[in-house]
Amino acid sequence: MPQEVLAQAASEMLDWPDTTGRRCGMGVMEMSHRGKEFMSICAHAESTLRSLLAIPEHFKILFMQGGGLAENAIVPMNLSALRAQPGHRGQTDFVLTGSWSQKSFLEAQRYSETHLAASAQACGFTDIPDPACWQIRPGASYVHICSNETIHGVEFHALPDLKSLGSDAALVVDFSSQVASRPMDWGHVGLAFGGAQKNLGPAGLTVVVVREDLLGHALAICPSAFNYQTVAANGSMYNTPPTYAIYMAGLVFDWLQRQGGIAAMEAKNIAKSQALYQAIDTSGLYVNRVHTDCRSRMNVPFFLRDEALNEAFLTGASAAGLLQLKGHKSVGGMRASLYNAMSLTGVQSLVAYMQDFEQRHA
Ligand SMILES: *Cc1c(COP(=O)(O)O)cnc(C)c1O
Repeated sequence: MPQEVLAQAASEMLDWPDTTGRRCGMGVMEMSHRGKEFMSICAHAESTLRSLLAIPEHFKILFMQGGGLAENAIVPMNLSALRAQPGHRGQTDFVLTGSWSQKSFLEAQRYSETHLAASAQACGFTDIPDPACWQIRPGASYVHICSNETIHGVEFHALPDLKSLGSDAALVVDFSSQVASRPMDWGHVGLAFGGAQKNLGPAGLTVVVVREDLLGHALAICPSAFNYQTVAANGSMYNTPPTYAIYMAGLVFDWLQRQGGIAAMEAKNIAKSQALYQAIDTSGLYVNRVHTDCRSRMNVPFFLRDEALNEAFLTGASAAGLLQLKGHKSVGGMRASLYNAMSLTGVQSLVAYMQDFEQRHA
């Protein structure tokens, strides 16, 4: 979370001011979600997100709950039947590029006939299989990708164009850890979803962006509160939405606009990630094994060639105020997450620490 946003939320917590600065006598957590104050907060968050991400009018923006993992079930419950033969389960195709797409693939098996169109598992998730070689089934309702694999540090730098691959399937994108870090090509997308907690706001809010023509195909077993058509028809207020998280995300969207929008964020994220990758690649101690053309700008995993130094590295880092650098337990090593709120100065401090640590342990 940007410091500025946290400070603003703190100043508004007890008594929220509207856009004219008039205090309304209550905080956001005390408002009815159907009152005019919260309705204006929600509408503002939605329209700011639409303009920031240049989301076309024929996409609905839904504010939901359950996070990215719940969407792994909600997506097949809503979209798997899109192109299904009567009496058959729908076909859903997956591209495996790391832990998150793998989780999505496994969960979808409960609701649909899944298939691996491509997998990078054999190379240890250090590369993205070339879309030209993906084996998409002709009857697939959708193809699922994770545009940034948060744990393995693998990112799609361009979204695949399924049409040009000869497929009529919709592209589903888990953009949990990529959203708002760079522009997005909506022309290639059917649906994108993400938990807010990486780049958009606090945990508790899930953002779904879905093309209107994909609505209305939910399975009979789909809970009403998770039926995209129902959620869309009720302006994300079918049930009580996560009001405070939506308010906070709205403040982050305003902050993003003040920073110069998504293009400015992308430039900053390129500078941050390049600084760190360059430090890793020019060192004798650190290594990142992800193929250079699909390295993530948001999550940079790296290893110490001498793993016995891991503990000393983390202890020294934490003493220098550099926190949360331990890699995910499934991968080991280190991981630096460079989400939008991380400054270039923050990354430079990390690089300086890494170089100093290497010198001391050469
Ligand atoms: C963090 C993350 C998730 C998990 O989302 P939850 O909100 O914890 O359910 C899913 N996908 C990706 C790519 C993530 O980075």
